Amino acid sequence: MLHRTGVQNKAEPQPQNLDGVAALRHPSDPMSTSAPILPATDDAIAQAAAHLRAGRLVAFPTETVYGLGGDATDDHAVAAIFAAKGRPSFNPLISHLPDLDAARKLAIFTPLAERLAANFWPGPLTLVLRRRPDCPVSHLACAGLDTIALRVPAHPVATRLLRATGRPVVAPSANPSGKVSPTQAQHVRNLLGDRLALVLDGGACAIGVESSVVDATGDRPVLLRPGGVTLEALEQAVGPVTLPEHDPDAPTSPGQLASHYAPALPVRLNATNAAAGEALLGFGPTDGTEALNLSRAGDLQEAAANLFAMLRALDRPGLSGIAIMPIPETGLGRAINDRLRRAAGPR
Ligand code: AMP
Ligand code: MG
Repeated sequence: MLHRTGVQNKAEPQPQNLDGVAALRHPSDPMSTSAPILPATDDAIAQAAAHLRAGRLVAFPTETVYGLGGDATDDHAVAAIFAAKGRPSFNPLISHLPDLDAARKLAIFTPLAERLAANFWPGPLTLVLRRRPDCPVSHLACAGLDTIALRVPAHPVATRLLRATGRPVVAPSANPSGKVSPTQAQHVRNLLGDRLALVLDGGACAIGVESSVVDATGDRPVLLRPGGVTLEALEQAVGPVTLPEHDPDAPTSPGQLASHYAPALPVRLNATNAAAGEALLGFGPTDGTEALNLSRAGDLQEAAANLFAMLRALDRPGLSGIAIMPIPETGLGRAINDRLRRAAGPR
């Protein structure tokens, strides 16, 4: 389900030119008409890269499925992706890069990760690694975790777009939550056309299933999600692969990934003010006593964009807890509350 804000105006023309009105829209603004589908010429790829760099969303083909792309370093673009997908929770997104060198700038590559990348990149393999301390990718894209998922896709259109953009691009499958992943440009427009600046057409996707996701933070690979690279191929390249427990909330064994981010400090929900020692995280108009505000305007997409960065900023020694004002349980508010309830729950 899409959560639109504002009024749609069907009569407004859709300029193709980057100087045009539509090109000035922010991803949180409603799109009046469905995005154009452009064959992936050099010019169209340059337009798509400019849209991404300006914070807008673009769909593009990969060898697995069409991706809903946004600048991974832009919290607002990432929040717009979650809004477009209409998921009731924030799952971490995969950052896409044109090559291994670009990927190495974002994460700490273990020897295992180097071997996996050498064998399977470019291709349908996603590596989960520890973020470098200076990693510029949005904390919302990583759902607040200290790890990041990286992939170098093999589709030539994806590679050209990523090179032209010059930034990591998050690109979950270009479908609203609960709908099947699109493998053709027209499917994308039917599903999400009003959320996108444009759809790059690269024909039908060859693989049609999503990438395999492997945790390569340790010395033994853990298959977090089966996908385009088979378990057999992984084992042939790097030896035995661990299959995790199926309950995603189950505690992982030492050295494995935490599946959710939670601040070290206790979190108190639906607070109206801060108790002694607490920092108040506000939402909406307030009397100004809060330490930080997710969105003074009460905009849920802005709140989502700020969520993990602000929780991290307030999670510091010397405070006794983080008190959070109520967030409405609508649209992206459901995903925000889902994460906050987990953060406030028993550890
Ligand atoms: P998709 O929506 O197809 O892009 O899927 C992204 C997949 O990558 C999901 O299965 C995520 O749970 C997984 N993923 C992304 N980042 C991480 C991470 N830091 N740790 C564990 N899994 C991740
Ligand atoms: Mg999907």
